[in-house]
Parts: sequence; structure tokens; C-alpha cells
Amino acid sequence: MLENALKLLKKFTSHDYKAYIVGGFVRDYLLGIDSQDIDIATNATPMEIKGIFEDAFLPTEDYGSVIVNKYGIRFEITTFRKEFNYADHRKPVEIQYIDDLYQDLLRRDFTINTICIDENGEIIDFLGGRDDLERKLIRTVGEADERLEQDALRILRAIRFATVLDFQLDGEIVDAIRKHRGLLKELSYQRKKEELDKIFVSGDVKRGIDMLLQFHLDKSLELENLSKVENTDSLIGIWSVLNVEDCYPFSNNEKEMMEDIRTVMTLNNLDPMALYKYGLYVNSVAGEMKGLDKKKITESYNSLVIHARGDLDVSSEEIMKSLNKEPGEYLSDIYEAIEKEVLYRRLPNTKEQILDYIQKNYASIS
Ligand code: ATP
Ligand code: MG
Repeated sequence: MLENALKLLKKFTSHDYKAYIVGGFVRDYLLGIDSQDIDIATNATPMEIKGIFEDAFLPTEDYGSVIVNKYGIRFEITTFRKEFNYADHRKPVEIQYIDDLYQDLLRRDFTINTICIDENGEIIDFLGGRDDLERKLIRTVGEADERLEQDALRILRAIRFATVLDFQLDGEIVDAIRKHRGLLKELSYQRKKEELDKIFVSGDVKRGIDMLLQFHLDKSLELENLSKVENTDSLIGIWSVLNVEDCYPFSNNEKEMMEDIRTVMTLNNLDPMALYKYGLYVNSVAGEMKGLDKKKITESYNSLVIHARGDLDVSSEEIMKSLNKEPGEYLSDIYEAIEKEVLYRRLPNTKEQILDYIQKNYASIS
């Protein structure tokens, strides 16, 4: 990945622009962690980048990043900039493109995110980022108090990096978080959720949640149930306990699943009907949060007599024929009854037995 990124940098320098790898890739590379994408900082403007890479995607918002997909890698390319006058503690009102890497690094959040690699693979570290990587320390560029107040998302980013990398927060950041935590209310739920997702999928999610609770961020984030989240590896499980779909953004599919998980939390996850009706995944997520053995849940699911209505050894036509009736509401009642009898093994799943059961119980319905 690094080799290809250096090739990309050389394309910039061959056009007389400056360009450096910066941010997450360099940080993770030095820590021996694989990266998904690569951030590039350059003095080329978006239009100039487009001049070098024809298939570059220009930013959809003012001063956004240009995206270039090359060598199977997604490059997020950002022009060196200076930021002024932050509005509402989130985004700068004014941005100026500049020519100087050092100035660009000063507007970045944490020292560990300011280390660069140039086109020869040389490390550039103006702000002591490598020392902090070694000390496993999250430290702001400049005064924590000022930087967290400017953009309150940095509060969550600090906790995210501390959680994911197993780093400590610098004392100044700790004080600044206590002082400015109320500002989290002003951020969009979308941006907050992106950081929270990264905390919740991290290997040490428990430490992340403990930190959020220690700083009382559950209040500012409107996550009333945060202290109720029990051991789980499941992102959707955590969000279902938090129960905040009315404000945080989720797809309809996710909303349905969270609703099901909450329902299934109240059921016995080894019960055939719960397993049949809500499926293995939802029951496993709920079961795990309740401390049940996942293997046991899987075994119970696998040993269900039927997993779907289609597994019953009888068709609607056969039911109608045996009762000599036209299709109607009554069919779903019958199906529900025979599903239940078969699942609880009170009725064998054979055509003959099922039709016999239907005759005995439903022949008289009008
Ligand atoms: P990852 O991509 O692994 O989530 P990252 O550090 O690369 O982590 P990005 O969101 O990709 O995070 O941002 C790229 C870089 O932009 C960061 O490393 C940091 O230098 C800078 N940056 C991002 N968000 C902020 C912010 N809110 N304030 C200041 N600088 C930021
Ligand atoms: Mg990144």
C-alpha cells in the first residue's frame, strides 16, 4: 500500500506540487496497523488535482476532499488550508488554501495525526507526533481547551483514538473534555454516530464506554442507556440497548433489527418459537448481551424442526383441499397453530399427521 501511495505522491511532485501522506495511514503504519484508505495533503487545489487525475471526484461541499481511487486504494486528498472562525463549535466559517505544509498541520487535531510521509518514504514529524505515538498519548495540536472548543467532535475523536489504539488522554485534554462536554449537543447526530460506531466496534469497547461514562458524556450525547450496555461484540446490539433511533440516523432495516433485538431480549433465546420467529442472528446478539452461551443458541437453532413456513410438509392447496374451502384468513391461523405444534414437537412434520391435526381441529370452522 505504501509503495503505491508513494507512486501517487510522485505524480504530484512531477507536476511541481507538494504532496504528503498524512493522518490515519501514517499513524497506523507506524503502529503496524492496516489502513482502509489514505489521506493526502497537498498544495494543489481541487481543480489542479483534477488536472493531474482526470477521474478524480471533486468535493461535493466547499473545501471538501478530492477522492481518487487508484491502485485499488481510496485516496482522500485535501488541499493545505488554514481555518478561521469556527461556527457553533463545529465547522470553520472560513477557509483559506495555503502553500505551507507546516501551517496545514497546525489546524489538525492530535499530534499523532500530523506525522507525514514524503514521496521518498521519509517521515516528516514537525509536532512531536512520533514521541506521542511511543508514549501512547493523545495530545492536541496547540491548547486542548481552545481546540476542543473550536470543534467539539474532537472530544469524541480523542476518546475514539484512545479506545481503538489503547492510548491515554493527555491531562490537558481530560480537563478540556470536562469543560466543553456540553458542546457535543451542537454537533450533528451523523458525525457523532460515526465516531461512536468506531468506539463501539473497537476490541476494547468496554474501556471506550467506561471513558464516555466517566466524563458523563452519556448526558451530552443523549445516550441515557449507555451504562446499561453489557458485554457485546455487536454494534447493532449496543445501539439497540441505547434505543435512540428517534434522533441518531439508522436505515429502516437497522431500525427493524434493533426493535427485534429489544423484543428478543425479553424472551428466552433458547425457546424454539423465539428462535423460529426472530432467527439466529437477533437471538445470538440478545443472548450474548445476557451472557448466554452463543454455541448453545446456535445448536438450539440448528435443531429446530422447521426454520420457515416452507419447511412444513404441507401446502396451502393441500390444507384447503382437506377442508374443502376457498382461500381465506383462516389459513394463517392454521399455519400459526401447526408451526407451534411442530416446533414444540407435539406434532410430527409429516403431511399425514398435519392434515389429520387440521381435520380434528378445523373441520368445523365455517
Ligand atoms: P481514520 O481514517 O483511521 O478514521 P484519521 O485520523 O485518518 O483516522 P480522518 O477523519 O480520515 O481521520 O481525518 C484525516 C486527518 O484529518 C486526521 O488524521 C487529522 O489530521 C485531520 N482531522 C480530521 N478530523 C479533524 C478535526 N475534527 N479537527 C482537526 N483535524 C481533523
Ligand atoms: Mg483517514
